[in-house]
Amino acid sequence: MEQHTILPSTIAVDGPAGSGKSAVSFAVAQRLGYLFVDTGAFYRAVTFLALEQNVSFDDPAALAALARRVHFDMTPDLDNDGRQYTMLADNRDITPHIHSPAVDAYVSITAAAADVRAALLDTQRRVAARGRVIVAGRDIGTVVLPNADLKIYLDASLDKRAERRYAQRVAKGEPADLAAIRRGLAERDTLDTQRDVAPLLRASDAVYLDTTFLTLEQSIDAAMRIVLGWHTARRSG
Ligand code: C5P
Repeated sequence: MEQHTILPSTIAVDGPAGSGKSAVSFAVAQRLGYLFVDTGAFYRAVTFLALEQNVSFDDPAALAALARRVHFDMTPDLDNDGRQYTMLADNRDITPHIHSPAVDAYVSITAAAADVRAALLDTQRRVAARGRVIVAGRDIGTVVLPNADLKIYLDASLDKRAERRYAQRVAKGEPADLAAIRRGLAERDTLDTQRDVAPLLRASDAVYLDTTFLTLEQSIDAAMRIVLGWHTARRSG
């Protein structure tokens, strides 16, 4: 990176599950020395705790009460074991638990509850206010950080996203069924794009990046070009 490149301090990255959002944002954050904030992890954290405490997913008020009661925080990987971040719930590290299939199955229900979203909004903004952050999610450019310096919308076809999730599971040695993963992603897409509150939406001022035909490395390079070209694009735009 050039010494004098002027970089956006807050970068918002939105897109559907499997678009490469987390992997690309994490890699860009590492190259820039930024904090990667994965906002899906907050919804996953509430979902995991609700499953653990037998809170009903039919009861949005109870889910919201849980989200308000617990203090969430996200830090760089505390164990230094190569994870993208550490998710803390009342200072307890719950990172290993929030990507389970059970959490996958319920997280979009948690995320559709307006009061849960309201409860998590300040937390996400507090973490992002540290600056030099790349914040990934579904409503970052539209709701959480509408004034982000740079917004990117990552996308990919449903088939490609399912293939990626399948490969991730296989690489981790977990049981994987491509058709079931594809169905699960399609269901989450529907829930995330059609909910009333803060649906997945491309902000009008977001740079669109389709990763369907790109490898992860190519996606990271494309995102880096957008970040490094931000200042020039802004001046000429
Ligand atoms: O990105 P990830 O797949 O971990 O997100 C899990 C779920 O959390 C999404 O399917 C969506 O329902 C919800 N989410 C959201 N708003 C965000 C981030 C995630 O509603 N900003």
